Amino acid sequence: MTTANQRVRRRVRPSVIATGPAMARTAGACYVTGGVIGLVSHWAARYDWGGTDRSGTTWVLGLSVAALLAGIALALAGGRLPQWSFYAISHVSASVLTVEVWLLRGRPETIAIASMFVIVVMYTSFFFEWAAAALATAHVLGAIVVAKLWWDAIPWVGVVALIGLSVLVAGITVALIRAAADADVDGLTGLPNRRGFDRLLQTALTDAERGSGQLSVAILDLDGFTATNDQQGRAEGDKRLQTFARDWVAQAGEDAVMARHGADEFAIVWPGATSGRLSAQLDAFRAAHPEFSAGVAVWQTGDTPSLLASRAEIALYEAKSSGGGRTFSSNDAGGESWMLLSSALTNNEFKVAYQPIVNGATGLVTGAEALLRWNRPGKGPVSPAEFIPIAESSGFISKLDHWVLETACREAAAWPRAVPAKVTVNVSGRELHQPDYYQQVVDVLIRTGLPAQRLVLEVTESTMEADSPVALDALRRLRADGVRIAIDDFGTGYSSLSRLHHLPADILKIDRSFVSTIQPQDNGAPLIAAITGLAHALGLTTVAEGVEQQYQADVLRHHGCDENQGWLHGRPDDPELIHAALAQQALSQPSVSFEQRAPAR
Ligand code: C2E
Ligand code: CA
Ligand code: CA
Repeated sequence: MTTANQRVRRRVRPSVIATGPAMARTAGACYVTGGVIGLVSHWAARYDWGGTDRSGTTWVLGLSVAALLAGIALALAGGRLPQWSFYAISHVSASVLTVEVWLLRGRPETIAIASMFVIVVMYTSFFFEWAAAALATAHVLGAIVVAKLWWDAIPWVGVVALIGLSVLVAGITVALIRAAADADVDGLTGLPNRRGFDRLLQTALTDAERGSGQLSVAILDLDGFTATNDQQGRAEGDKRLQTFARDWVAQAGEDAVMARHGADEFAIVWPGATSGRLSAQLDAFRAAHPEFSAGVAVWQTGDTPSLLASRAEIALYEAKSSGGGRTFSSNDAGGESWMLLSSALTNNEFKVAYQPIVNGATGLVTGAEALLRWNRPGKGPVSPAEFIPIAESSGFISKLDHWVLETACREAAAWPRAVPAKVTVNVSGRELHQPDYYQQVVDVLIRTGLPAQRLVLEVTESTMEADSPVALDALRRLRADGVRIAIDDFGTGYSSLSRLHHLPADILKIDRSFVSTIQPQDNGAPLIAAITGLAHALGLTTVAEGVEQQYQADVLRHHGCDENQGWLHGRPDDPELIHAALAQQALSQPSVSFEQRAPAR
């Protein structure tokens, strides 16, 4: 049975040492050497032997020239080939050498050609796992035996020397390379150690500079690790480190390589990932391991490994000093924004404004969207367009959105029950990807007493773009409990109709940019007609955003748009106003009530 340690160790070796460029350059050098040996031995044989039978040598001459050219090509451009192709090249080389030995059988240069078998053995032992290297060595030994017993191509002294050398070279190379790789591995967790991490980072950085694109790095620190060690003993501390490492490897897969960076510090190198993706992966990892802080930094042109790592360290420091248990990104001065927004929340500087949503045909209020407002003392109101992106990049958005959800649900629970009005709350992508998001919403509904049927959650298409199973699963479960899901700002992002069909949604919010194209005396509005038609065909109801003019409302009604939201019907305003409007409506309307079903725990 292989342990997690062994699994990690086996993976580490190729990624630390056997990088594409290193394999390509070495293969190139071997091929060039082989080509030169082939050519030189061709002329050298004339001196030794001087025979006139040249049969087969023209072929070998041609193959030597081909090897020379292939070697140059591999060294220059082979770095992008996948690793397995170098293994295939090794076997092809052994087979070509066998053919050459057969062509030259009995001639003195045969031994020169056959000596190159040892190069194949060395190459595979250096770059590949022992099983793969053993197979290549067996291929070579088999070829030598066949060449002797079937074709009598090599003298017995040659056979003895070749077999002896092949076995010796394979054994020594594997032993040395294992020792070198072990020096890069942490004994406790089986992850690369700091030295291994530095090597990985250097390779990843070189690749990124060559144009492979993104590269993100994180430094993680276990919260309260000293306490674990002091109170529960070192063995318990070691176990915590091992479980942490093993679970990450199991959850994050092969690309996001974790290393042990210090006593209770880990580091992650993820070539090809944005800092957002790495942060999301770390957030998802918190479901099993909530007690760690992380700082994430993304590679920028000109970064050295130490510059990149130190940016992640600073972000980690900020994450720790803001209380721990969270991830900060370095590209947003995360810590500062977090502190600012956090103190604004504690000082009651935020409040929720409600903008009415009305029925397109009757004009009656059917609900309201909760929109966050921040009034900075001494500085006045700050636009959400300004502070929401900051909250998102610092990670504070989760706290903020949770507060809006709780406030909006509590206030909406107090609205007159006679009117079936829904409260609509915006959800950020980051929040949605938290593994316990479903439970958080259910808890808020239970705490505030708002029936699930009266809550609508607004998510943008791009939020769901990643097709994160965690996010989609949370939305599906919430829908099953009666919560409605609206797709916000429809039409501003990348809209795929086939995807739309599969999203767990009930409502489509047509973006303001479409509504603003409606002109006075405009009866066509083909875009509006198409979107409402499409939404209805998919079983979604429509809400038009940014309705400012009566003629826009008329055209929307004409095309069967279900609901409208915009300045024409009311600006976002204090909670008392929407409460009063609903109370007014309750008086003039027969009583209709929601099914008062609380979600199951
Ligand atoms: P959104 O979700 O598309 O919200 C609608 C925005 O359009 C609001 O801007 C609203 O004031 C504005 N609006 C409404 N009717 C009209 C109109 O007739 N004409 C025009 N020109 N604008 C209209 P606001 O409140 O500034 O919010 C901006 C964005 O900030 C929101 O866009 C939403 O993406 C985000 N946001 C607001 N509150 C929250 C929140 O609690 N959580 C999250 N995650 N995001 C929020
Ligand atoms: Ca919205
Ligand atoms: Ca919107």
